Amino acid sequence: MRVRTTLVMALVAAGLPALPQPAAAYVRTMTESGASTAWKTPCVTMEFSLGAPPPELDAQGYLSAAQAAGAAWSQASLDGINRCTNVIFAVVSVPDVAGKVGLDYHNRLIFRQGQWCSDPLPKDGSCYDPSALALTSVFQNTDTGEILDADLEMNATDYTWGDFVAHPEQSNIQDFQGAITHEFGHVIGLSHTCFSPGGTFADGTLIPRPTDNQGNPVPDCGPDNPPAITQATMYVSVATPSAEYELRSLSPDDMQAACGIYPFATNFECVAPSRLGSTSDGGCSYSGLTGRDSVAGVLAILALGLAFRRRRW
Ligand SMILES: [Zn+2]
Repeated sequence: MRVRTTLVMALVAAGLPALPQPAAAYVRTMTESGASTAWKTPCVTMEFSLGAPPPELDAQGYLSAAQAAGAAWSQASLDGINRCTNVIFAVVSVPDVAGKVGLDYHNRLIFRQGQWCSDPLPKDGSCYDPSALALTSVFQNTDTGEILDADLEMNATDYTWGDFVAHPEQSNIQDFQGAITHEFGHVIGLSHTCFSPGGTFADGTLIPRPTDNQGNPVPDCGPDNPPAITQATMYVSVATPSAEYELRSLSPDDMQAACGIYPFATNFECVAPSRLGSTSDGGCSYSGLTGRDSVAGVLAILALGLAFRRRRW
């Protein structure tokens, strides 16, 4: 654990510029009402259900890898440049049984083995796209953009997850730490650095083309994307299984995202997300995983499914 954590810190440090570039671009997740999403305060704890993990690593190996991925986004890592963020990203193991994906104020990290489907199965029996390596569902207040809950499912049905640094000869494995680093970016409110037209919000309306933090339209995802976009941890896909290894280290754009959305403040305190019960009489419901049943109202919650895929071009 200690060795692997040290390694990722070294990788991050090696890629650092002297200071984050002011022109660095990143893309935030938006709600239907146009609000940028973010935690009220960025103290995020993921609960990792590790009862019977995939066989390539043991439970501690997966836990250590996930903790290193969280550390890449954390204040502890980004302190090295100019102490630019308050993000504190922790991963803890929990007893065997994975909880449900949904708004319950527990951020879950779950392997899907045997079938790449939601649990319980949707009524129509449909499962996830097998090209998706992982899926992060972010539950957020559509009006304010406050992130309330984020659950992460890893596709261990169609893919084999392991450690490409420890076993570079295993060209058939997906690098767990790299992929998790990408997914954790979604958890803190980041979208991809390119745009895939056709995606929909929970109510079925099309997601418009986003702009980056500098106001520039985000280009379509495709083979012509320049390195500045494809080298980000938050790029939409990976070309080869082993390419996920490179996602472990944040690009300057990724680092600027954490520091721009959650800038460092000396008087920082962790604050729990708003809870429905405090302002709702219980008449409000929220969507399931894919958000097909979006509700209206002050506390309408959007579940935005963000898939990370094997590249198709
Ligand atoms: Zn993604």
